[in-house]
Amino acid sequence: LDAGEFRRQGRQVVDFIADYYDRIDEYPVRPAVAPGFLARQLPDTAPAWPEPDALASALRDVRELILPGVTHWQSPRHFAHFAATASNVGALGEALAAGLNINPFTWAASPAATELEVVVTDWLGKALHLPEQLLFCGGGGGTLLGTSCEAMLCAIVAARDRKLAEVGGEERMGDLVVYCSDQTHFSFKKAAHVAGIRRANCREIPTCRENGFTLSPAALRAAVRADEAAGRVPLFLCATVGTTPTAAVDPLRELCAAVAGHGVWVHVDAAYAGAACICPEFSHIAAGAEAVDSFSTNPHKWLLANMDCCALWVRSPSALVAALGTDADVILKDASASDVVDYKDWQVALSRRFRALKLWLVLRCHGVEGLRGFVRAHVRMAAAFEGMVRADARFEVPVPARFGLVCFRLRPAADDGTAEATNELNRRLLETVNATGRAYMSCAVVGGMYLLRCAVGNSLTEERHVREAWSVVQQQADAVLALAAA
Ligand code: PLP
Repeated sequence: LDAGEFRRQGRQVVDFIADYYDRIDEYPVRPAVAPGFLARQLPDTAPAWPEPDALASALRDVRELILPGVTHWQSPRHFAHFAATASNVGALGEALAAGLNINPFTWAASPAATELEVVVTDWLGKALHLPEQLLFCGGGGGTLLGTSCEAMLCAIVAARDRKLAEVGGEERMGDLVVYCSDQTHFSFKKAAHVAGIRRANCREIPTCRENGFTLSPAALRAAVRADEAAGRVPLFLCATVGTTPTAAVDPLRELCAAVAGHGVWVHVDAAYAGAACICPEFSHIAAGAEAVDSFSTNPHKWLLANMDCCALWVRSPSALVAALGTDADVILKDASASDVVDYKDWQVALSRRFRALKLWLVLRCHGVEGLRGFVRAHVRMAAAFEGMVRADARFEVPVPARFGLVCFRLRPAADDGTAEATNELNRRLLETVNATGRAYMSCAVVGGMYLLRCAVGNSLTEERHVREAWSVVQQQADAVLALAAA
C-alpha cells in the first residue's frame, strides 16, 4: 500500500460515496434490470495490465453500469427488509479496519484487537441490558461474527459436543433433536443441518394468530417430552426476539422454564429486534435471558454498525472453545499466551476481521443515548404508518406493529373474499407498489395470510418518506381494486 497514492485515491472514493448519498433519493429503490444485464457490458476476462488511471475509470463504471443495477439498501424509501443501517462512523470504521488490515485470530496475533472486542462486546451487552452471565464481567463473554447464521452454527456445535460428551459420544448424533417455531428464520435449519442434525430431528412448532405467532411453551414442553419418551435427546432451542415475518417476540422466561431440567441449550436469535433492548422501555423483550445459553443480535441491522457485524454472547465460553478450539498449529501455539481470549476458538474460520473497531467507534460517536434516539425515531415512524393504514377502511393490520415493522393487507373483498383471492389481491398490490420505484416493501405469509411488510429502519428515512410510501400504497390500491372490480 502506497501511502501517497492511498491519500489521493482515498479522497476520490470518499467523494464518490458522499456524492452517492447526496443523490440516493433520486434512484428507483429497486433497479428495473433483467438477468445478465451487467455481465453483457463487461469484458470476459480481467485486464492483463493495469489500465491507465484505473481507479477513476472503474469509479466511472460503478456510477454508470453498477449503480443503475443495485437495489439501494440505504435509500430512505427501502422498507422491504430489516435494514442494514449505515452511518458515517460505521462506514469509516470499516475503512479504518480495512486500512489496518490485521487478522486478530489469537490474542497474540493482535492483542489490542482482541482486547477491544472483549471490551466492546461487554459495552454493547450492558447497553442492551443483557444479563451479566452472558458478559465477560459475569463469567460469560461475547464475540463479533459476520452473521446470525454463523452465530447459530457456533452455538449449536458447542451444544452438540457438550451433549454428546454427556450422553455417550458420536453414535448418539442421530438422536439429537433441535426445536424452533414455524416463524424461526430459515438460517436456523441450515445451521442445524451443517452441524449434522438430522433434518427429521428439527421440530418446527406451529404458531397461531391468537398468540401473536409466538412459540408456545406448552407445545415446546410437549415436544421435548415426546422426544425423550421415544429415546431421543433434546439438544437445542432457538427462540426468537423479533421474528422476520412479523417481529413476534417469543416468551423467553416461559420457554426456558418449559425446557428446564431437560439439558436443552437455549439460544436467542435477536438479529433485528435485539437492538431495541437498548431502550429501557423495550428491555423487557429479553426478560428471562438470565437462563439462556447464548444470545445474538446484528448491530449492522439497527445499530448503525454497517455490514457486517453480529454479536454473539455465550454463558459458557468454555463450551464454544471445547467444540471449536484447536491448538494443532504449532506456529500459533508457540506464539500464544495463557489466560487470554483466542477468538479463533469461538468461530468456524481461523482468520477474522477487526470488527470491534467499527462497533467501538459507533458506540463512542453516537453514545447509548444517541442510539436510543435512533431506534425510537423508527418506532415512532412505524406507529405513524400503522395509524395511516388503520385509518383507511380498505386495509387491515392483522398483527399489531412491532418495533419498526408494520404488516398490513387489503381486507377481503365483499364479493370474492376467499383467502386465495385476498392473497392474490395483496400480491398484486405489492408488485405495483414496488414497480413504482418510490417505495420498496416485502411480504410475509403467516397463518395463511399474505401480508405486506413495511420495515422502517433506514438511517435516512424521515417521516415524509413514510407518508409518501403510504400514499404510493393508497394510489396503487386504487388501481388494483379498480382492476379487480372491472
Ligand atoms: N434471524 C432473524 C430473525 C432475521 O431477521 C435474519 C435476517 O433478517 C436472520 C436471522 C439472518 O441473519 P444473517 O443474515 O445475519 O444470518
